[in-house]
Amino acid sequence: MIVQHFPSKTADLYSFSNKEYDFRAFICVQKNNRGPALGGCRLRPYLSERAAVIDVIRLSRAMRDKAFMSGLQHDGGKAVIMQSAKPISREVLFRCFAECVDSLKGRYITTIDSGTTAADMAIIKCYTPFVVGFESDDAVAFATALGAFIGIKAAINLHYCHPERSEGSYAAEKILRFAQDDNVHVAIQGVGNVGLQLAKLLHESGARLTVSDVNPVRAKIAADTFGAIIVDSEDIYQVECDVFSPCALGRIIHRNNIDRFRTKIIAGAANDQLDSKKLSDQLNQKGIMYVPDFILNAGGLIYLSRERDGWSQEAIRQDLLRIGERVQHEIVLQAIRSKAP
Ligand code: NAD
Repeated sequence: MIVQHFPSKTADLYSFSNKEYDFRAFICVQKNNRGPALGGCRLRPYLSERAAVIDVIRLSRAMRDKAFMSGLQHDGGKAVIMQSAKPISREVLFRCFAECVDSLKGRYITTIDSGTTAADMAIIKCYTPFVVGFESDDAVAFATALGAFIGIKAAINLHYCHPERSEGSYAAEKILRFAQDDNVHVAIQGVGNVGLQLAKLLHESGARLTVSDVNPVRAKIAADTFGAIIVDSEDIYQVECDVFSPCALGRIIHRNNIDRFRTKIIAGAANDQLDSKKLSDQLNQKGIMYVPDFILNAGGLIYLSRERDGWSQEAIRQDLLRIGERVQHEIVLQAIRSKAP
């Protein structure tokens, strides 16, 4: 394995390659002195090494913000593996990757992300202790979906000015249902692991759903199970709704589609939703409340971090529910900032 280290003032970027297996991976760790970096390993076919490096840097920054906002003692970290055209078994691929993780001696702890599964993490566990999330695919996605759901509830309560439902603990089951008169309509882009669990929570709470997914099988599950209306992938942006919830890809909000949104709130689980940071202000100017992804989708990270620290499932659940309070604080701050001279 050839390892190269590219340090900067704020982050350490590591590049790994193994010619024998056509293996190429990058790990980026942000330097914030909060603790070991904890973040997923993404596996996908990148068009170039540059694209993979940009992705790993942006994603590790998102993890830094997520850990900070959630009060977790972790630096931001992320890994990407460039999927090769050369056939290679999962066992070999993740043995190579485990070697990369182990070489950082605990500075980075890896876990599941797009393209990787708990079974892959179980392979890594055979070669390094610096891995979490090897027991179940569903638990982390559920924690992410629950956090996103609580955050969406909090944003709606603030938007529709239900102060009585904006106060106190989000653990109270009664506030988990939407008020009938709100007739809440949520448009979800992507009903994969997280999006489908979010759809379930929203449906059980009385929300109407519209969904899109490039995989028609996933969209059909949401339609058959939760009565969701299916629209084409390109049409989801202009669905008239209360909440548009991106749960598929990053950078889906950009200057070419910002005028198409017919929603009051944007709040979803996808990482890195804005093509550029200033789009958040532009959405606010249009009267669309934007809930930052790194607050709303922190549930999975909170779950893994707390579980690693030995917290009980009930204590973890209570911590996940605090995402609602963070969302409301952030929205109030945004409102104050937008009125500042
Ligand atoms: P997933 O791969 O299971 O689901 C993504 C879904 O989006 C798939 O069904 C896919 O077909 C669909 N999709 C892809 N492109 C699309 C498009 N253009 N339009 C509509 N649908 C499209 O992934 P996931 O684990 O559900 O994660 C979803 C997002 O949430 C990702 O951005 C991920 O980084 C982020 N996220 C996930 C977690 C987690 O716990 N899994 C945690 C934090 C953030």
